[in-house]
Amino acid sequence: MARRILVIGANASGVEAASAARKKDRTAEITLITQEKNAGYSRCGLPFVIGGQIPSFKDLIVYPPAYFQMLKLNLKTETKVTAIDTKEKAVTTMDKADATETLQYDSLVIATGADAFMPPIKGHEKQGILSLRNLKDGEKILEEVQNGAKTAVIMGAGLIGLETGVALIERGLKVTIVEMLPQILPQMLDADMAKMIQEHLQEKGMCILTEKRVEEFLGGDKVTAIMAGGEKIEADLFISAFGVRANTKLAVDSGIPLGETRAIKTNGKMETDAQDVYAVGDCAEAPSIITHKPMCAQLGTIAVRQGKVAGTNAGGGYALFSGVLASAVTRLFDIEAGVTGLTEKAAQRARFEVVTGAISSKTKADYYPNALPIKVKLVVEKESQRLIGAQIIGGEEVTQRINALSFAIQQGMTVRELAKADTAYAPPLCETWEPMVLAAELVLMKLR
Ligand SMILES: Cc1cc2nc3c(=O)[nH]c(=O)nc-3n(C[C@H](O)[C@H](O)[C@H](O)COP(=O)(O)OP(=O)(O)OC[C@H]3O[C@@H](n4cnc5c(N)ncnc54)[C@H](O)[C@@H]3O)c2cc1C
Repeated sequence: MARRILVIGANASGVEAASAARKKDRTAEITLITQEKNAGYSRCGLPFVIGGQIPSFKDLIVYPPAYFQMLKLNLKTETKVTAIDTKEKAVTTMDKADATETLQYDSLVIATGADAFMPPIKGHEKQGILSLRNLKDGEKILEEVQNGAKTAVIMGAGLIGLETGVALIERGLKVTIVEMLPQILPQMLDADMAKMIQEHLQEKGMCILTEKRVEEFLGGDKVTAIMAGGEKIEADLFISAFGVRANTKLAVDSGIPLGETRAIKTNGKMETDAQDVYAVGDCAEAPSIITHKPMCAQLGTIAVRQGKVAGTNAGGGYALFSGVLASAVTRLFDIEAGVTGLTEKAAQRARFEVVTGAISSKTKADYYPNALPIKVKLVVEKESQRLIGAQIIGGEEVTQRINALSFAIQQGMTVRELAKADTAYAPPLCETWEPMVLAAELVLMKLR
């Protein structure tokens, strides 16, 4: 009998899991189930449709129906999995006409992602508080813009909040960001690096209010203003970007244990504690390559890698997930930002004794036209001199440098080795002394 593989969720991690399983087992009966109307689309592209760089939300569909047909993957859309029975190895589904069905599995992959988080702020049940997680959310925000919204308040200065803020400014709105912490991008960057981004965003017209906690949503049925740090802020559009929470309800209801991050606990094969049940992507935790403690970084890059591991194993192969560095990049107007490994703050929280070095340089030879500023900060463990984190802010080439530093961390490179790296140079492309190497030399000097 053909192996039956069920995948709950049909986005980044789910589609990758199903595709990897198909590569391992050509005859398996593989079914993906998603409650959404569309499967296999890029959430990461949503802000760019709102901003107008991508013409339509439909353009974000990376895996069209033909892909699923080609790989003989059964796809059930607008169908919700309502229960998992790990003893009987079955799931119950309900489609949009409320028809229920029970499906048996040999292997199950939970790829249920995450949901936008709304703290229990007074008035949070009012209408008109939007978030940006799925295509429908994106369509709603764009509709408000097209209906004439002129002002927006975005609550939360994380990656999604800021990318959405930039998109709305590009559509001509006046945008205010409200953040309870003293800095923007608090999960991604240290305060000294985040400051450069904040200045750039403010120059571009974004109003950023830090150290202001949202205390209340005001208005009748529909929100018309918020109270934040004792100040009333009115707007036409309210977007909550307080963060996301792993979607673990199905796992919890079926007795599948969560880990210390409150995401689904997994091992190196992405197996949960339930037999033949895997969990991947934004709903699952996995160890940090540096601290070896579980984390749930909720990034698309991690989702696809975990999906591939779980799918390979579910399809009868063998694969291990190597852990998380949480490398991430973004571009906000004309400035790029990237991180890999631990920030200085995160390293201190994890009780590493660190030495850091930050240098400012240029992306091309100083005399070459359009050389742009770039700042590199390295975080190094003092005792071992091992590189454990890097942040870069600049006008271009941030992604490739972050990727290079991510490889360096994964390979356990010391700052001494990085300072001796044999890098390339040409005036239109790079400075003679690569900024990453200069930052490493600065750390070495401090260590001496
Ligand atoms: C605006 C935005 C920008 C982003 N930008 C980046 C970026 O630049 N780089 C990056 O690396 N990451 C980015 N991310 C994060 C990235 O999109 C996620 O990490 C990735 O989508 C996670 O994939 P996933 O498959 O785990 O979960 P999801 O993509 O959330 O998919 C889970 C799916 O499961 C469905 N589901 C849940 N429960 C059930 C159920 N009971 N029955 C049926 N279906 C169910 C959900 O509806 C959903 O469709 C961004 C996210 C957002 C929202």
